[in-house]
Amino acid sequence: MSPGATRADPEGPLPPIIAAMGEPAGGPLLEVRNLTVRYGKAIRALDDVDLTVAEGTATTVLGANGAGKTTLLRAITGLLGFHDGAVAGGSIALRGERIDGADPARIVRSGIAQVMEGRRVLGDLTIEENLLVGATTAPRRADLRARIAASYEMFPVLGDRRGDQAGLLSGGQQQMLAMARALMTEPTLLILDEPSLGLAPLIAEQIRDSIIALRDAGTTVLLVEQNAAMALSIADEAVVLRNGRVALAGPAAELAGNSSVHDMYLGTS
Ligand code: ATP
Repeated sequence: MSPGATRADPEGPLPPIIAAMGEPAGGPLLEVRNLTVRYGKAIRALDDVDLTVAEGTATTVLGANGAGKTTLLRAITGLLGFHDGAVAGGSIALRGERIDGADPARIVRSGIAQVMEGRRVLGDLTIEENLLVGATTAPRRADLRARIAASYEMFPVLGDRRGDQAGLLSGGQQQMLAMARALMTEPTLLILDEPSLGLAPLIAEQIRDSIIALRDAGTTVLLVEQNAAMALSIADEAVVLRNGRVALAGPAAELAGNSSVHDMYLGTS
């Protein structure tokens, strides 16, 4: 499917929205084609899923519990094998190079960084030490100081507290640190898994603003969220999964503007 098209849910009717979309900002960076994933022999968690993330854009993957969002991320980052899962069909390519089936370390080296759900900063280390740890897999080490300085510019609170233990930061600040740490590798694609989870609404808004700033600064973002309103307010493009299939895909602004999308596909209103 072209990134400009929408796709009907084979299991139900489509709301009459989401017509033509504008051209994406850049060429395709990540291309997932006809992806089918199984856990064990019996569970088909993704079925014939397509997703295109254009360079320099933010794309969000939405869906209710169990829709397949985490499975899609595991497939992209090469982590399915740790969960008794495997790609059973289709392909995943980053800038035209197949990465499905590659080992996770190679996928990280190819330029994909993921901020895991739950943030997972190293609580006993200082903020600056967390950033340095994040840089250990960076392809280029020389401009480490410059990248740390850029992190503090993007997230001033991290600079103000650079010598503090990361475990003392608030949830929102830890999310900022997790994002800054992932950015230390200068990723081609930054994957964010539920960045607003467990955060107070005001803090979630700060995180949203940070993600928008990252995208505007040129980072390509793939965002998985259960908070559909927040995700759609950030993203350029959106894909809604339902029962492991693409139920809808189109410009985020158009999905956001249609309440039946929320009712029918996201379990919210
Ligand atoms: P949530 O938002 O609740 O995390 P999700 O959209 O991320 O949901 P997945 O976790 O990808 O959904 O789950 C998709 C389907 O695959 C579900 O039916 C789930 O039960 C199943 N599943 C996920 N992980 C495994 C596993 N390790 N073994 C077997 N089945 C799994």
